[in-house]
Amino acid sequence: MNKHRFIEKTTFQYKRGAIMDKLIFIKYGELSTKKDNRKMFIKILLKNIKNKLEGLFYEIEYTTSRMYIKTNAHNLKEIINRLTEVFGIHSIVICDRVNNNKKEIENKVIEVVKDLQFNTFKVETKRSNKSFPMTSLEFSKYIGGVVLKNVDCSVDVHNPDIIINIEIRTEGTFIYTQEINGLGGYPVGVQGKGMLMLSGGIDSPVAGYLALKRGVDLECLYFESPPHTSLEAKNKVIKLASIVNKYSGNLKVHVVPFTSIQEAIYKNVPDTYIITIMRRMMYRITERFSKKRNCKVIVNGESIGQVASQTLTSMVVINNVTNMPVIRPVACLDKLEIIDLSLKIGTYETSILPFEDCCTIFVPRHPVINPELDKCIEYEKLFDYEALINDCINNIETINNLEINNYNDLL
Ligand code: ATP
Ligand code: MG
Repeated sequence: MNKHRFIEKTTFQYKRGAIMDKLIFIKYGELSTKKDNRKMFIKILLKNIKNKLEGLFYEIEYTTSRMYIKTNAHNLKEIINRLTEVFGIHSIVICDRVNNNKKEIENKVIEVVKDLQFNTFKVETKRSNKSFPMTSLEFSKYIGGVVLKNVDCSVDVHNPDIIINIEIRTEGTFIYTQEINGLGGYPVGVQGKGMLMLSGGIDSPVAGYLALKRGVDLECLYFESPPHTSLEAKNKVIKLASIVNKYSGNLKVHVVPFTSIQEAIYKNVPDTYIITIMRRMMYRITERFSKKRNCKVIVNGESIGQVASQTLTSMVVINNVTNMPVIRPVACLDKLEIIDLSLKIGTYETSILPFEDCCTIFVPRHPVINPELDKCIEYEKLFDYEALINDCINNIETINNLEINNYNDLL
């Protein structure tokens, strides 16, 4: 069977007779070679792209190896901008399409190169359609000759100013000189869902971005402790979610009222163990709520050794309360590497706003670096945390996707 066969043609917002004279194609990101996975990958990518391009004017078609988007000059730039925020796309190519006819290809190449500024060039032909009468090499040489006759320039196969790409495929011949990098990764959703512990810090939005990159759909859980933490702190987290949402389109933020648990810990637990016990409580709540929301894993922004609660010993003792896998995408990154990523994804400026988080209130002067599990269990017997946890979970407030986007201008 022809692997380039069109599976389906999907048209959105297509007006009869409207001019659609711009063409883009998308090369897929990291694809599993398994046939069923490929189908699912494409289906989810298509859904994510439709979601991302909402409100724009375009028509989309796809094959098992790429997607084509037709649009007009007015929408082209915005479509490309939005596609650069979609995971699962290796690259975005603005191209021209002609029939598999030597003369037509030649004419189009002349038209394209006449609009470009360059001194040296090279032609690269890929011929997946073997019924075309010339080999790739022969055709590259032939087109090279055509360009030299029409433009004042020379060939440089090693370091050319432009590469004229010609792809001769079953569905037509595609000519392009520019390829824009996509984000790569897997389309969000191919791996099912995870629960991101989202704070107002630098690390967790980056962790969320990295999990999305591997195809994990996310919901977010934020622990707040009013009145010890402010409304600004909460708005900051929702604002961060709205930025990360550019790469998901599907985020929700669940807000856990954590005050009574924090106060109970503060009252009953020795200073040095406050943070350890608090994080064990967070994990317990996250695990239970994740199950309710069909999330398979917990995702957070912990980084080995960053603070007392993130030494390996602390992680073991804290992680002990859950059997759910905890994905820590930034576990092995330096803080500077995490900051670089947060600058790249646009969360840094918001993350550094100075509002106190529940982890930064009640911070003991000397938190334990090597906590002991037995001690945690003993201290947790000092108050009825089960009732408090249930109460927290029953009173979670959910901010849905639409509302998140409206928070954009709040801070
Ligand atoms: P920073 O960038 O300052 O380190 P942080 O959010 O990473 O901020 P940590 O104390 O290092 O703060 O917390 C480790 C992880 O625990 C966070 O990355 C986040 O996943 C989770 N976490 C911390 N506080 C909260 C909170 N209030 N709500 C939800 N998750 C939290
Ligand atoms: Mg951190």
